[in-house]
Amino acid sequence: MPQPSREGKAIGIDLGLNHFAVTSDGSKFDNPRLLNKHQQNLKLKQQQLSRKQKGSSNRNKARKKVARVHRKINNCSADFLHKLSRRIVNENQVIVVENLNIKGMMQNHCLAKSIHQVGWGMFCTMLKYKAQAEGKIYQEVDRFFPSSKTCHVCLNQVGSLSLAVRNWTCRHCLTLHDRDVNAALNLRDEGLRILTSGTGDKACCPDVSRTKRGRKKSTTALSVGQEAYCVREASL
Ligand SMILES: [Zn+2]
Repeated sequence: MPQPSREGKAIGIDLGLNHFAVTSDGSKFDNPRLLNKHQQNLKLKQQQLSRKQKGSSNRNKARKKVARVHRKINNCSADFLHKLSRRIVNENQVIVVENLNIKGMMQNHCLAKSIHQVGWGMFCTMLKYKAQAEGKIYQEVDRFFPSSKTCHVCLNQVGSLSLAVRNWTCRHCLTLHDRDVNAALNLRDEGLRILTSGTGDKACCPDVSRTKRGRKKSTTALSVGQEAYCVREASL
């Protein structure tokens, strides 16, 4: 059992489809394999259900099987999200995530993606209440913030970054970036900037260890990058 951190560590978390979550300290977390297995099973059971005659007892049996897989998925997912959020809250003082537009995302009808979205929403809710229960800080960053396309070292922005690109090199400072880790680092820095400038949900900020570089106070121009919005939307 990990002990709660007293060091005032801050973490940024990038949520995505390639990995469920990637953190600013370089950890990548995937959905448990069992969950994927259940999801494949769900698809199969739903197909079987659709082939059964309406009103038949076979249809009723098939319906119960679908419900059972749904329950398994919910349990498995909740277990994973509880453990991961507990670990992150225990190890950090400040947790920064991107503000997800759950309502907008729910209009997406793709099953796999919608399951991801439910997971992200639940995960953020868990992070938030677990953090608040321990007097820690949960901070959301505006989703227009171009976390993927900004170099976290020199804050240089690339014009476009195709979703297929998992690694890229900053032309300005020549740093090689892992796309998701770089995004998580930018989220962390932006979250800390919001907290220290007092424009966040909470005006006070505990003694958090900021990186020496820090982020300049004025990044308003960065925060409204519309192109990043497009990249983000396409990646969902
Ligand atoms: Zn750079």
